[in-house]
Amino acid sequence: MDSKRLRIAMQKSGRLSQDSQALLKSCGLKINLREDRLIAHVENMPIDILRVRDDDIPGLVMDGVVDLGVVGENVLEETMLERARMEMPVDYKVLQRLDYGGCRLSLAVPQEQVWEGVASLNGKRIATTYPNLLTRYLAERGVKYKPVLLTGSVEVAPRAGLADGICDLVSSGATLEANGLKEVEIIYQSKAVLIQTCNELDPAKQQIIDTLIPRLQGMLQARE
Ligand code: ATP
Ligand code: ZN
Repeated sequence: MDSKRLRIAMQKSGRLSQDSQALLKSCGLKINLREDRLIAHVENMPIDILRVRDDDIPGLVMDGVVDLGVVGENVLEETMLERARMEMPVDYKVLQRLDYGGCRLSLAVPQEQVWEGVASLNGKRIATTYPNLLTRYLAERGVKYKPVLLTGSVEVAPRAGLADGICDLVSSGATLEANGLKEVEIIYQSKAVLIQTCNELDPAKQQIIDTLIPRLQGMLQARE
């Protein structure tokens, strides 16, 4: 990969991909996307788009492997806490909070359970993909729980007898309901954000960023 070209990491396929691509296009980038390719070249500017799993994006930015990244704050914050625990670099700059990818990380328990606040989760098993965010939230409230780590199908864990409750992303709540769960507490509100590495960039690259940001902000303002 040409190090003179600005590198932007975005989700390859998932809930953030379409909106992220559309946003860059609306800022004037002509992206030549081939579905099977990891790297997409921008035709009219010295920019490469790196298409990866969203979970890898914060680390790529914090390690300075890419210059910019678009990712959900939920994944960014979880990765930050995990890396801090591992004593790895956690620096990044938020250039812009975006207007899509909205969701909330919530606690949910079986519908029939009477909810009397987070204290009732003391000693309980909670299935989640976000152990660091959940631990921070519950520790601040003096609650100790048993994490059950799952990277998918979190919402079926209680019915499967693997957990007493879950902490998962929610947008409409339909998935929870379909699994006999009720949302009882929001622990984190998230949107997509554009972040930059803290490494000092080549002036030519920084120049491109400085031209793109006002365009991006103009776009966001226009569709408010
Ligand atoms: P990948 O293969 O890239 O790891 P994924 O399955 O982890 O994909 P998606 O389900 O595509 O990720 O979600 C990506 C991001 O979209 C989430 O981390 C979150 O920031 C945002 N998002 C918005 N709404 C929702 C929702 N209802 N459920 C899950 N994520 C949502
Ligand atoms: Zn992911």
